[in-house]
Amino acid sequence: VKHSRRARLEAALRLWRRALGDDHVVTAAAARRSAERATFQTSQRIPALLRPASRLEVQACLRIAGRFRVPIHPVSCGKNWGYGSRVPVRDGAVVMELARMSRIVEFDERLGYVTLEPGVTFRQLHAFLRRRRSRLHANPTGSTPDASPLANALERGLGHGPLGDRFNGVCGLEVVLPTGECVRTGFARLPGAAAAPLHRWGVGPWVDGLFSQSSFGVVTRLTLWLSPIPELGDRIAATIGSARDLPRAIDALRPLLLRGVLRNPVKLTNDYRVLSTATRYPRSITKGDGVLPRALVRALLPKPFSWALSGTLEYATARHRAPERRLLRDALAASCGRVVFTREARLRGKGGDGWAELHRPGVSRDVVATYWRKRSAPPAEPDPDRDRCGAIWCSPVVPMTGRAVAAAVRIVERTTADSGFEPMITITALDGRSAHLVIPIFFDHAVARDDRRALACARRLHARLARRGFFPYRLGVNSMRLLPAANGDDAAFRRRLKLACDPRSILSPGRYAT
Ligand SMILES: Cc1cc2nc3c(=O)[nH]c(=O)nc-3n(C[C@H](O)[C@H](O)[C@H](O)COP(=O)(O)OP(=O)(O)OC[C@H]3O[C@@H](n4cnc5c(N)ncnc54)[C@H](O)[C@@H]3O)c2cc1C
Repeated sequence: VKHSRRARLEAALRLWRRALGDDHVVTAAAARRSAERATFQTSQRIPALLRPASRLEVQACLRIAGRFRVPIHPVSCGKNWGYGSRVPVRDGAVVMELARMSRIVEFDERLGYVTLEPGVTFRQLHAFLRRRRSRLHANPTGSTPDASPLANALERGLGHGPLGDRFNGVCGLEVVLPTGECVRTGFARLPGAAAAPLHRWGVGPWVDGLFSQSSFGVVTRLTLWLSPIPELGDRIAATIGSARDLPRAIDALRPLLLRGVLRNPVKLTNDYRVLSTATRYPRSITKGDGVLPRALVRALLPKPFSWALSGTLEYATARHRAPERRLLRDALAASCGRVVFTREARLRGKGGDGWAELHRPGVSRDVVATYWRKRSAPPAEPDPDRDRCGAIWCSPVVPMTGRAVAAAVRIVERTTADSGFEPMITITALDGRSAHLVIPIFFDHAVARDDRRALACARRLHARLARRGFFPYRLGVNSMRLLPAANGDDAAFRRRLKLACDPRSILSPGRYAT
């Protein structure tokens, strides 16, 4: 069996080389090893990497893969750090990197959209918008600017700004099915459709969701909606002194989000997580590797707090500023210290446009946090895969009530402490109905024992949160099998969908249990 698998791979490689050119079919050991590296322990082997440059080449690659039954795992920029980087769920899949497909195909300032390919990065898109003196932004994430807006949308990633729930702002997908066929979604499937980049649903069954968090097709293009950089607004910052006041703050924010006073995501970041972006685990003080005591965290922060609240307010006119500030201030009075508002004009004054900078993909202090438990300082160009930083995300969705959020926080604090990791939590409130808790486990991936401990901690976290009904918005290659069996006939239904799209089962086997 092993021999025939090898022979099939060799035959496929020959045809892929003919389709893409020798340079873009990579079997060199160093390149394969590098792609096999994630921010936690994995054992999957990658026999080759394919680097197609166009949709036609993607189609050719998938037809060849189907013919020889070689599994393919597509990535765009491959920066899925903390969820598995470029590593496929199953052993033996060929990784298809789409970074060479980096064209911005269409852009409209007036209607606020861009149509782009998988290899376009946040950095590239930002530079493109700046060159055009655009007043739009791409709702960037806390991750590296070298990630892909298209892939981030497919994973239903979270960003800043009103379209921070990124999959809410995409349409007109162009998808290559594992059979090599090509489909377009929404109105884009109809010839000459004027609203193809502007309307999410088109007419008839809406299928875009099938290609998000799945293994049903390779997305080679999509339209991403952009948000205007607001003319008027405030950056908001406040802190919650006592952990007991967190539920009250959540219950106060909910109506403001539901009523649209807050139109951008609001973040609550706990003390440990804030510290992780400012410094590394202070071994010189702890003299050991135990969980950093909270008292020490407090002492290391310039001003101690339990939770830091951050976000932005946008105003339709200058007259909205005072009453909307008051609404927020009054709502948070019982749970937070003073709310600090910094108006756009002040941020604009400080050497460059600090207000516009708020909306740009950053150099990311957040990525530096993955060096939290490393023995050496983060380099100027952080790369957690290369530097063997340990990071695993666990990202449960919780009802936006003080009670539910407090229950989830308790589970996280108890579970991480049991396993010897700091409880780091960011709560992102997007729309007033649910909150995303984003919990990193940071450790030193170069220490095998810590690796095993971290993976076990993540498993325990998933299990304990699930017992309370809190399931993750997104999975990593480490957690694809952690969901319980679904209700009703869901599994059979999903199997049939998979079979219809991918009759030879070649695309990312095991991903999201499809
Ligand atoms: C410190 C830190 C902070 C982070 N902050 C955030 C954050 O704020 N928000 C957030 O969302 N994430 C965050 N992340 C996680 C991650 O880095 C981002 O989600 C990043 O955008 C994913 O990498 P990528 O865009 O290169 O996607 P890729 O790695 O290219 O793709 C991710 C997955 O999507 C699928 N996929 C990709 N392209 C295609 C395609 N064309 N067709 C079909 N399937 C495809 C693949 O299965 C792939 O494994 C953070 C990570 C770290 C370490």
